[in-house]
Amino acid sequence: FSAEEYIYQLLERIEKVEPKVNAFVTVNNKEAIDRARAIDKKVRDGEQAGALAGVAVSVKDNICTKGIKTTCASRMLEAYVPPYDATVVKRLQDAGAIVIGKANLDEFAMGSTTEFSRHGTTRNPWDISRVPGGSSGGSAASVAALECTVSLGSDTGGSVRCPASFCSVVGLKPTYGLISRYGLVSYANSLEQIGPLGRTVSDAVSVLNVIAGADENDHTTAGGKPTYSLQERKKGLRVGLVQEFIEGADPAVAKVIHKAADTLVGQEGCTCEQASLASVQYALASYYTIATAEASSNLARYDNVRYGFDLSPEGYEWNSYFAKARSNFGEEVKRRIIVGSYVLSSGYYGKYYLKAQQVRSLLKRELKALFKKYDVLIGPTMPILPFKIGEKIDDPLKMYLVDIDTVVANLTGMPAMSVPAGFADGLPVGLQIMADEFQEQTMLDAAYLFE
Ligand code: GLN
Repeated sequence: FSAEEYIYQLLERIEKVEPKVNAFVTVNNKEAIDRARAIDKKVRDGEQAGALAGVAVSVKDNICTKGIKTTCASRMLEAYVPPYDATVVKRLQDAGAIVIGKANLDEFAMGSTTEFSRHGTTRNPWDISRVPGGSSGGSAASVAALECTVSLGSDTGGSVRCPASFCSVVGLKPTYGLISRYGLVSYANSLEQIGPLGRTVSDAVSVLNVIAGADENDHTTAGGKPTYSLQERKKGLRVGLVQEFIEGADPAVAKVIHKAADTLVGQEGCTCEQASLASVQYALASYYTIATAEASSNLARYDNVRYGFDLSPEGYEWNSYFAKARSNFGEEVKRRIIVGSYVLSSGYYGKYYLKAQQVRSLLKRELKALFKKYDVLIGPTMPILPFKIGEKIDDPLKMYLVDIDTVVANLTGMPAMSVPAGFADGLPVGLQIMADEFQEQTMLDAAYLFE
């Protein structure tokens, strides 16, 4: 059938399930239909329509889309319409993909549940009383609820992998520098990458192949334009099961992961041993120090002059205007700005920020040594099952703890992905696969063995 029919079907589906799931901040109805028609015309005329011709993609609402609001689920950007497309969006559209809508998230991507959104909570399509994970919860939920085919999320400390795990889809965070961040609204730019989500590993790879590669607008991208393939089932992969990740997990989660590891070993001559990553005990403290430090600096630009909402400066001095406007950030964002300013302030900088950076090198050394022995490391993506909406919202520390298994890849820049591993108590469990820098092909080979 035609791209136009397919888009109409999806729009119908979106209308039906959105009242329950709330995965979208904006649905791009009209433009999506126009684009579908243009694709159909190209096909009719025998022209090249692109590698992703007609594929509907949802894009996290912190990735800029020209002419479509990009709110970061924040009051601060409630009316912001970017004058340009992020590189990833441009590349997708050049390949024929259709942006069907902008996906919900925690405000400025700070959170693990998509509850901290100005547009309301996204619900987990497998059980709408539970969180979909976050912060790319709208991305994962839209893919899981069949509202689109693939999605783009951003992953600063697990935000692609966490919701992928909770919603039983595939989510991939590439090596730092593989994908351009041009047009991604910065939260903690030394940690984050944009990443694809899909229902299968091959769907995620199709997107990765289009968006990965050097970009002159982001000088942190590495050179070249790699392509990945899933043609053969890789033989003899050496797999390390990270002990610390298993020990920290809910027994129901650990059971599913052990079973998945056993299936892997049963295949194509793979071996699996227990591996230990001792400095993981410092990872969360290091992550939340660096992420908040960078956030406090990145979010200083929201002064309500360059960006913002309608607030008359009448009757304010500069500082009081700035303070008044910034009081409109949500609770979690304010908490991060305050913690981040604290760890960077003189007297505390050495005590917290520098220590956190040292942990980063320590972790990287340890991982590099492990990747001499193993092709990939595996473990649970999330230590617990998708929990009830509201369960952790009042306790930031409890909320931060769920990121324990995902932040390691961001601190070290290594690639990591989550693939569905099974269900426990009727709820999805994701398996995390990590590989050495720029070894995405090896990571994907391991992931492919699960399909
Ligand atoms: N939950 C983590 C945080 O709040 C990760 C978020 C993300 O990856 N964007 O910082």
